[in-house]
Amino acid sequence: MVAVGFGGYIKTLDARDITVRFSSPRAATSKVFTVRKGWNRIGLAIAGTKGIYKARVEVSPSTRRILLWGINIDGVNFPKSLAKITPTLEDLNSEYVCPETLYLDHASPVAVEILEEESTRLTIRDSLESVEVKKCSYDGRYLPLDSSKLGLLAFHKHNAKRTRHQNECRACKKWKKPCLENVR
Ligand SMILES: [Zn+2]
Repeated sequence: MVAVGFGGYIKTLDARDITVRFSSPRAATSKVFTVRKGWNRIGLAIAGTKGIYKARVEVSPSTRRILLWGINIDGVNFPKSLAKITPTLEDLNSEYVCPETLYLDHASPVAVEILEEESTRLTIRDSLESVEVKKCSYDGRYLPLDSSKLGLLAFHKHNAKRTRHQNECRACKKWKKPCLENVR
């Protein structure tokens, strides 16, 4: 299945409801993420078609400031070693593995164009705040974790490890095993 994903990590100063409306010329979907104070994972996938994709992020109640990290929209392409896996849209939208399972490049804070004319009172600034990241040992991406809140971001917790998190991100942890079993 060809799918396109929107996702990344958002920090709010307080608990909020974040509604994401994600649309392509032929499909649209939306989801409400109830986020806590601090960094949160958000992501959505829709069936892929040609054209322009737009994601609208609504924060309720409104807030003076949110931080964005690794926000991106792109076609969902699993790593080559997982290419035999055929996830459904439901798999891709599972909160357990989304946005990690969209396999987006999260190397820039915001990799999409922000349409300021379609936004409400928006000012975009660089922030001096930092995000803790760890390399996924399987797909090689640097993804966020919060060492004060184990297992809440891109990696599940694992108390026996030095980082107190799994070596692989949530998505690789989920998909790697069935693939190895198939090889047997
Ligand atoms: Zn991974």
